[in-house]
Amino acid sequence: MSKNSPHSTPDSVHSEPVSMNPRAEDSAQSVFIALGSNEGDSTAHLTQARLFLQEISTSPIRASRVYQTEPIGPSDDDFLNAVIHIGWEGSPESLLERLKEQERIQGRPSRYPKWTSRTLDLDIIDFGGLILNNDRLHLPHPAAAKRLFVLLPLYDLAPEWHEPVNKKAISELIHQAPEMRIEVGAWQWE
Ligand code: AMP
Repeated sequence: MSKNSPHSTPDSVHSEPVSMNPRAEDSAQSVFIALGSNEGDSTAHLTQARLFLQEISTSPIRASRVYQTEPIGPSDDDFLNAVIHIGWEGSPESLLERLKEQERIQGRPSRYPKWTSRTLDLDIIDFGGLILNNDRLHLPHPAAAKRLFVLLPLYDLAPEWHEPVNKKAISELIHQAPEMRIEVGAWQWE
């Protein structure tokens, strides 16, 4: 699929409005998480990760379509990518810990070179519009503004989304993103 293709929101994706309130201490935050896998049984890894995200979410999760994308860097195998929306009560740091733990459970070593193959990658794309930059966390995730494998599945779930730092609309970011091979995957959630 070219990045200029018109996007239709599939019937399987619910389109109720998504809250993008700034961080509030006492209520669940609206969080978008990007999933990626290109090593081992990627469909099984995405399925397991989706079940995990449902378990930790304070509300029913919403999942984008699954996309098949070319690897960036030295990997040979295509990635499967998706974005899932969850509710999270707690800090972004505590969520990051849970995600890193799940990556380890699903077979990813705790140390690894950047851009290599991975059984499972879980990134926090947007945490209720919070802007944060420290040693461990960059919010919104830098890939949110420039990678089609994040932007297209995010668009499935939140076509009204704006990047919190520069306030650009997701449709504009999609048109500005570098070209890459990306298509709706042959495999979709069961
Ligand atoms: P990755 O190779 O994509 O799994 O990223 C590895 C590291 O990126 C993690 O250990 C985090 O400390 C850091 N990181 C920074 N910002 C984020 C974010 N928004 N979501 C997930 N990891 C992040």
